Amino acid sequence: MTRIFSGIKPTGHLTLGNYLGALRQWVESDQHRAEAIFCVVDLHALTVDHDPARVRRLSRQAATLMLAAGLDPALCTLFVQSHVDEHTRLSYLLECTASDGEMRRMIQYKEKSVRERETGGSVRLSLLTYPVLMAADILAYGADEVPVGDDQAQHVELTRDLAVRFNQRYGQTFTVPRAVLPPVAARVMDLQDPTSKMGKSHAETSGIVYLLDEPDVVRRKVMRAVTDSGAEVAYDRAAKPGVTNLLELLAACTGKEPGELAAGYSSYGALKKDTADAVVELLRPVRERHAELCADPAYVDGVLRDGARRARELARPTVDAAYRAIGLLPAR
Ligand code: ATP
Ligand code: MG
Repeated sequence: MTRIFSGIKPTGHLTLGNYLGALRQWVESDQHRAEAIFCVVDLHALTVDHDPARVRRLSRQAATLMLAAGLDPALCTLFVQSHVDEHTRLSYLLECTASDGEMRRMIQYKEKSVRERETGGSVRLSLLTYPVLMAADILAYGADEVPVGDDQAQHVELTRDLAVRFNQRYGQTFTVPRAVLPPVAARVMDLQDPTSKMGKSHAETSGIVYLLDEPDVVRRKVMRAVTDSGAEVAYDRAAKPGVTNLLELLAACTGKEPGELAAGYSSYGALKKDTADAVVELLRPVRERHAELCADPAYVDGVLRDGARRARELARPTVDAAYRAIGLLPAR
């Protein structure tokens, strides 16, 4: 059976980008068709300046939202990364497989290290090695597929390189995974800056739709979205990034083609209104279910406990095999 692994970092409140780029596929398709493993990747949240209490709170909120969006513990495994030691055990072996040059070429490292320096912080070593830990997350489970947004494709490519290299040097150990991107909205852009990706850790929040935003807040953010010069509604990412982003959002909500949708609009205002309504309706059930689950923290704890137990069982044989293959003496 196909194995799937993916995760979300508790670096901020989950966004519409996280939902459309990743979570929705996990819920609607992946958990039904494969052995699916989903993770709140909390160790990755420590790679940038962080507040301990906030990371703890956001980890619980992310898990609760993943359930609220429709992940079903009877169909998939849901857990918190730091509850399963296999991730960090394997990460070290992969650090011994990767080169520093490979890490420095990662676009996300370049972008986030600039941001950390601009805000006066130092760049944590773990920000550089982050993609190796992510590779360990994936390879520990022998995942065939990694459903992610477009921004993570480069990291999955690196994961493939590391798996192939390790297998060639030390013998067949890892499945070589591939990234699976959603057909539309694989890169949801910030509503106030449609040339940059919507990201939950960004400081400027007016262009970010959070899954837990109230309907009137969602409406206001979409209605105030930056659009482009001219008045024609066209699906053209280079010439019309703002309008194109709205068309992609509406397409993702309605299941229609963004190019065809464009033909039905003669003004930005009407497009914004329909997009706002569609996003509000898309998020409504998630927000309602989240409120219900918040009233039952013991249920969420139980899911995460069972999930971690299952994840450990799944990961341990592969990680143990990697320890043997690379030349470490087994403990007796
Ligand atoms: P951060 O700003 O801390 O990196 P993020 O919003 O990018 O947060 P991640 O936890 O890095 O979220 O990513 C979780 C998943 O959501 C990944 O699969 C990622 O590709 C996807 N994703 C993140 N942002 C977007 C976006 N704007 N559009 C589509 N998919 C996205
Ligand atoms: Mg990200």
